[in-house]
Amino acid sequence: MKKRVFIFDLDDTLYKEIDFLKSAYREIAMIIGHPEAFDFMLDSYLYEDNTFKSVIDKYHLKFTVGQLLDIYRNHKPDISLEQDTATTLDALKASGAIMCLLTDGRSLTQRNKIEAFGLNRWFADEDILISEEFGYGKPSIECYQYFLDRYPDAQFTVIGDNPAKDFLTPNKLGWMTICLRPNGQNIHNQNLKVPKEYLAKHKIDNLSQIKRI
Ligand SMILES: [Mg+2]
Repeated sequence: MKKRVFIFDLDDTLYKEIDFLKSAYREIAMIIGHPEAFDFMLDSYLYEDNTFKSVIDKYHLKFTVGQLLDIYRNHKPDISLEQDTATTLDALKASGAIMCLLTDGRSLTQRNKIEAFGLNRWFADEDILISEEFGYGKPSIECYQYFLDRYPDAQFTVIGDNPAKDFLTPNKLGWMTICLRPNGQNIHNQNLKVPKEYLAKHKIDNLSQIKRI
């Protein structure tokens, strides 16, 4: 029987990125010494203001936008996987599947998330690709070729949330593609007005539904 390989996206797939944002805002509120700034920043974000500039102005901070952005990106996030997600990863792993992670982003930011979630429990180091470290991002063929070279005879399934880049290349390779529908909390809206080849073959509302496909 062919090996089954699951390639997961990270942000807004294995967890909701809004949780990372809240964690960062909490950290910033603590560092600037204004706990109440957490609510202010969250409101400002929801109103699509320039959050960091607004918080600097409101509390007359000596920080620059760049410094707050650095805290946002580099802080050790206080976040965890939802139980459903952990259970799904457990079940896939127990079935003998190989779990891979393919994520666009900064090395430190993504590594901090991986550590917070304890993803090494399911994903081997060599099966984690972060665009800043790898030199290529989605939908570059290089990202997928890396996993093809590691598992030449496997049957691949890609799970992501972003039709702009998550499914195009896997579709071309004839792989299974699964899109996690947004729950209204996604930081980036899903743009479904893309050519058909960008869309996933299946859509799910919850990662536990992968088992059905
Ligand atoms: Mg994503």
